[in-house]
Amino acid sequence: MKQYRAYCFDLDGTIYKGTEVIEAAAQTIYELQKRGIEPYYITNNASVNREDVENKLAKMGIVAKRERIYTTAVASALYCAEYHASSHIYLYGEEGLRKAFAEQNLRVVGPEEADVAVVGINRESTYESLSEVMNVIRNGATFIATNSDKIIPTATGFGVGNGSFIRLLAHATGIEPLYIGKPESTMLELVRESGGYAKDEMVMIGDNYDTDILCGIQYEIDTIHVAGGVHTQAQIQQREKQPTYFVENLTELL
Ligand SMILES: [Mg+2]
Repeated sequence: MKQYRAYCFDLDGTIYKGTEVIEAAAQTIYELQKRGIEPYYITNNASVNREDVENKLAKMGIVAKRERIYTTAVASALYCAEYHASSHIYLYGEEGLRKAFAEQNLRVVGPEEADVAVVGINRESTYESLSEVMNVIRNGATFIATNSDKIIPTATGFGVGNGSFIRLLAHATGIEPLYIGKPESTMLELVRESGGYAKDEMVMIGDNYDTDILCGIQYEIDTIHVAGGVHTQAQIQQREKQPTYFVENLTELL
């Protein structure tokens, strides 16, 4: 298999499942690090910031470099720092989203003052809170969605993902958001800029065709699908565009 400079790993279903590490993934990351290659971690999860992911991986025996972790909370904050640095930003989401925006010193405001609305997973959503963010968007705030995941893995199966709440808000307002998470290329572009990589030095590795693999394909970098997560190899072979490689187990990267 080709060797790369920037290995971009999805997290859930690729490196761990819930709180259980996937041993082959941990071993592969360790081996890459021994060769002097420090991986990147790219997750659509908007409820966590870099420190949260670093701590979670550390508990699994994976020593990740904090600045190489991109969650959609972090990427949304970095995006706003670049394009909406002087905006009044209304956040709809959880603690990780708030922490990521605080780290970029962005101006976070209440619903009346907002000219940007950033919407991430909020597992305490209510009719009232959804109506509030709907009105912020109706009143003209730029609508940014951390990610479009319809469902998310939970300890007992699946839960409603941020993308489903986004559809609700888009339907109610008639306005489509700008999406930050995979399959959009914002996070891969942040990686490329941070390391000064050429696209042929980068690879996106994940278990989900619709997010990880499509993200890499659309960004025109190589992709590796790993079995055992959201999609099987057989399901992906039905799709028009194929990943560069299929692996049963991440140690095949070595
Ligand atoms: Mg995944």
